[in-house]
Amino acid sequence: MNFNKNIEEQYNTYRLNNYGPATITLTKGEGEFVWDDAGNKYLDFTTGIATTGLGHCHPALVKAIREQAGKLIHASNLYRFKEQGDLAEALVSKAGPGKVFFCNSGAESSETLIKLSRLHGIHKSKTNTPATKIVVSNNAFHGRTFGGMSATPQEKIQDGFYPLLPSFPVARLNDINSFADQIDEETAAILIEPIQGEGGIHVASTEFLRGLRALCTEYNILLLIDEVQSGTGRTGQFFAHEIAGIQADAIGMAKGLGGGFPIGAVWISETFAGLFKPGSHGSTFGGNPLACAAALAVLETIEKEDLLQRVTQLSESWIKDLISLKNKYDALNEVRGRGFLIGLDFEEDPAPVQTELQNKGLLTVRANGNVLRLLPPLTVSESSLQESINLLDATLALTSQKVSTHQR
Ligand SMILES: *Cc1c(COP(=O)(O)O)cnc(C)c1O
Repeated sequence: MNFNKNIEEQYNTYRLNNYGPATITLTKGEGEFVWDDAGNKYLDFTTGIATTGLGHCHPALVKAIREQAGKLIHASNLYRFKEQGDLAEALVSKAGPGKVFFCNSGAESSETLIKLSRLHGIHKSKTNTPATKIVVSNNAFHGRTFGGMSATPQEKIQDGFYPLLPSFPVARLNDINSFADQIDEETAAILIEPIQGEGGIHVASTEFLRGLRALCTEYNILLLIDEVQSGTGRTGQFFAHEIAGIQADAIGMAKGLGGGFPIGAVWISETFAGLFKPGSHGSTFGGNPLACAAALAVLETIEKEDLLQRVTQLSESWIKDLISLKNKYDALNEVRGRGFLIGLDFEEDPAPVQTELQNKGLLTVRANGNVLRLLPPLTVSESSLQESINLLDATLALTSQKVSTHQR
């Protein structure tokens, strides 16, 4: 075929305009680095939006995908594969006694959680009216499908798509009473991210998560935890909510689980897993051998390279350095998050900072509000973490200077 050689033009002509325009074209990645088509090298602290947790093209992941691709790529859930059995067993060993459903994305994991809550709502209802309400948090993000979007109380995401799925009352993160106030006999579940990602890196406190667990137990409602962004080791625990010592009723996973290969999963506790009966839910691609082989390689590598321990250790001094930058520059208000899921909250729109960082060779992701997200891979080297501090320091010195010049 004869393709247009100008990629930007190609995108403008043929690619749906649903994303903001990209400014660089990437051609390859290795570890924490990516390269653009002009040969520039970048330190990639976007990791494909908290996805390529092993870094780019980790040899173990590449090997697993290559080998599986030569054996069996896809055959549907009409049949069994060892890879899916192994992955389900591995996830149960992380999450606790229960069962796993496989899908292909975070949004589909949210759909599964919402469908689970409907089944529970029928089961728990003492009248003919099933409980259908799911209490969500302000600034939450649960995906772009109708269910996920309905559970995402952000106008910029919902706008243009009404009417949405009904019955997602909104409560305030870290305000247990505001959640308690939303609960009535029609409530089926609470859906929460332990650390909000897209919403601006807001951390649910340990005390708050324990409070939610107690509320859910008291009123027989499901505690649904969305670990799509915070899971697979990103915070130094396999699941971010582990730090609170609580047990979820169901957990949504995706992003980092496949290390860049699309896969989603939902773990459901033994108590509620039986709500799904044969025929009640499904996915053609979900848990196919290739996706499962990729996820297994991710889990094995996390163990083999002791990555959870590594994230906890390396993030400690890195976050200290980030806080020093916050103390040095007025433009930077707050450093939030845990492990390698970090948000820098700026006084003003950080777009110029982000652009300058990219020019200097550090890629970052925006989040809701004036937030820049830093999402290094779990395998990042200490020197690259130090390099990110140097680049931020130089950039903030430059952009802060501009602001003060401007004010004069
Ligand atoms: C990204 C994200 C989703 C949606 O995942 P997709 O794979 O983009 O559908 C859902 N929940 C959370 C917490 C996320 O960060």
